[in-house]
Amino acid sequence: MKLFGVTFRHGVHPPDSKGLTDAVPIRRMPFPDRIALPLRQHAGKPARCLVEKGDRVERGDKIAEADGFVSVPIHASAAGTVAAVEWWPHPDGSMAETVVIDVERYSPQIPRPRIVPRWEGLSPEAVRAAVQEAGVVGLGGAAFPTHVKLSPPEDLPIEWLLVNGAECEPYLTTDHRTMVEYPERVHFGIRIMMQCLGVERAVIGVEKNKPDAIAELERTLPGDLDVSVMPLTVKYPQGAEKMLIEVVTGREVPSGKLPMHVGAVVQNVGSIATIAEVFETGLPLIERVVTVTGPGVGKPSNLIVPVGTQLQDVLDFCGGVTDDAAEIVFGGPMMGTSQPDMRTPLIKGTTGVVVLTEAEVKPKQTYPCIKCGHCLDACPVFLNPSELGILAQAGRYDEMEERHLMDCMLCGCCSYVCPSNIPLSQMFALSKNALRKRQAA
Ligand code: SF4
Ligand code: SF4
Repeated sequence: MKLFGVTFRHGVHPPDSKGLTDAVPIRRMPFPDRIALPLRQHAGKPARCLVEKGDRVERGDKIAEADGFVSVPIHASAAGTVAAVEWWPHPDGSMAETVVIDVERYSPQIPRPRIVPRWEGLSPEAVRAAVQEAGVVGLGGAAFPTHVKLSPPEDLPIEWLLVNGAECEPYLTTDHRTMVEYPERVHFGIRIMMQCLGVERAVIGVEKNKPDAIAELERTLPGDLDVSVMPLTVKYPQGAEKMLIEVVTGREVPSGKLPMHVGAVVQNVGSIATIAEVFETGLPLIERVVTVTGPGVGKPSNLIVPVGTQLQDVLDFCGGVTDDAAEIVFGGPMMGTSQPDMRTPLIKGTTGVVVLTEAEVKPKQTYPCIKCGHCLDACPVFLNPSELGILAQAGRYDEMEERHLMDCMLCGCCSYVCPSNIPLSQMFALSKNALRKRQAA
């Protein structure tokens, strides 16, 4: 089968700013005194709480169960005692029901003995069930439950497994270091996914600014599977699912459709490494790799962090913030969310913590649209952000929907290029939420 390898149209070229951490090995952060685990850490229905104040939990114990098919359980990332189940700051800016655990200071943090599933003999249904039970979600930011991606309808045959190692968001090196340090684990996860999906071909897409990751993945390629590594042009948002599919397969995902409609499943490289861990150790998703970086942080690092660790604890471990730190963002500067509360926990979908100084923060002063058209030239899905912005300001959501607002990936390209500093993608995020709420009602 032919690989395309040309780049997608439009997009932007922000400075990648990855030099602070791209050569820094991953290290493990010590357990904090307290962790906060929101029941809402994934796309879909929040998990249902199974514990109450005073309960004792071991590391890896299930503390909340999946509430339906598009949902996953939550597990304790450290041994301790449930201090409260209460409303707590969430990375998305809201308050969310959260299990707060006081971590047992002198615990060896050894999980209970557990059965490690032998993947070779498992049916696809059993693999999907094990992945859901382990609470695995997409670690690239969207936190979509992975077992759902492993369950395409029978009338939509999957030809391609695309492994997303693009990591096009500036500053972040989480996936980069995972590919450099754990390439065999990535390949093992690919093997499990290929068997589960019944696909014969997998392609790992990696931007060309990660030559060491490309080399490690190629060095460890399995001899008995059709897996290849595809170096990608460095361009934002190369890591968006639709862009990756277009570049690798030459197929365009139509408006309102999913990757499976063009025969592809896309999975982030970190999630694939997590699937491998589930079948290596039997442990659920209770920790993840996070990049803590930016000119405003004392010691930029790549860390393995227990899920639920609070922002303050992570920054303290990384040498604190500098005097000129102006903004803390979860995720990268293009798609990330600003964090005003230091109690906010890092959750399953938190790819990085970026501390920006005044020099990097976009001016808050906005100006009227001057119809320059830069946002139209930048939008990778060919929307008209200028027009959508005017409709968003007027709350004309139905007209926005008619103009394909729901195809907007919230990539931030339009905001990035806008000379009037109009926060277009933030406005589109609010508009999409308003439309979804209205449709649900
Ligand atoms: S945020 Fe939406 S409208 Fe703006 S460039 Fe990205 S996809 Fe286009
Ligand atoms: S980039 Fe900004 S100023 Fe230019 S057309 Fe788009 S919204 Fe208007």
